[in-house]
Amino acid sequence: AIWNLGSINIDHIYRLDHLPDAGETISAQEVTQGLGGKGANQSVATARAGAQTCHLGAMGTGDQWVIDRLAASGICTGNILRLDRTATGHAIILLDAQGENSIIIHPGANRMLTKAALQSCFDRIKPQDSLLIQNETNCQVEAAKAAKRVGARVIYSAAPFEIGPLRAIMPHADILAMNAGEAAQLFAEIPGDLPVEGLLITLGGEGAEYRDLRTGQTYRQPAFPVRAVDTTGAGDTFAGYFAAALDRGDTIPDALRLAAGAAALQVTRYGASDAIPMLEEVVGFLAK
Ligand code: ADP
Repeated sequence: AIWNLGSINIDHIYRLDHLPDAGETISAQEVTQGLGGKGANQSVATARAGAQTCHLGAMGTGDQWVIDRLAASGICTGNILRLDRTATGHAIILLDAQGENSIIIHPGANRMLTKAALQSCFDRIKPQDSLLIQNETNCQVEAAKAAKRVGARVIYSAAPFEIGPLRAIMPHADILAMNAGEAAQLFAEIPGDLPVEGLLITLGGEGAEYRDLRTGQTYRQPAFPVRAVDTTGAGDTFAGYFAAALDRGDTIPDALRLAAGAAALQVTRYGASDAIPMLEEVVGFLAK
């Protein structure tokens, strides 16, 4: 089973023909709302990949559609805290005609978790489980320690990149997941050995690689050629599918291939979590 301590954001997506410069005012061609946040995206990805998924997080008391949508993907939502007088996290996503984006996030409830409220969940993590964490909530280290203590696999997405939280969690993580930009920042900050088992680095349209730091072996996975229209959530789709594949016992090359197939389909559609494909679709795509 997969536990995911992660953010839940309502995405407000503005489609523009170009991103605004400083001082510039432009009209959006279209505005839509969707479910996002690295946490919610990764939970949707692991659930649609077929893993039993329990989301740990927080949001405001309204926005019931968010819970309904997570539940519709098969995610256990019973441990999502509903905080009074607190805004659900949200994001303003500007998307240009090329699919490039600029994003503003308001964390809201995502940063108001407490260890006390999460402890009963932490106590239920089993050795064969996986725990996913990203850098969009608080209580990251507490969760990682609890999972690591029982021997569960801890996968940390170092995104958005911040060296402080990363240094704090690394001793309690097994795998770090990040994109090329985040990896460059990590290697600049910590040039030497990293105290983790492996690094998953996604490289956009170039694919992804997994570095096993125990054996020194690097596994490479090319991206599948598709027409990308919106890459928001591509990294989360990859990380979630990769985690679900490892959780069910897949090898690293199989997990990479499945995740690359899922991310390829995801970038051909608009939206973050809404664009994440089901396992059957991914399997069909890979069989072509
Ligand atoms: P992030 O969204 O975190 O920045 P990336 O941009 O590295 O992450 O994308 C994650 C994964 O999504 C890539 O490893 C790749 O598998 C897939 N992907 C991203 N862009 C494309 C693309 N243009 N074509 C096919 N796959 C893509």
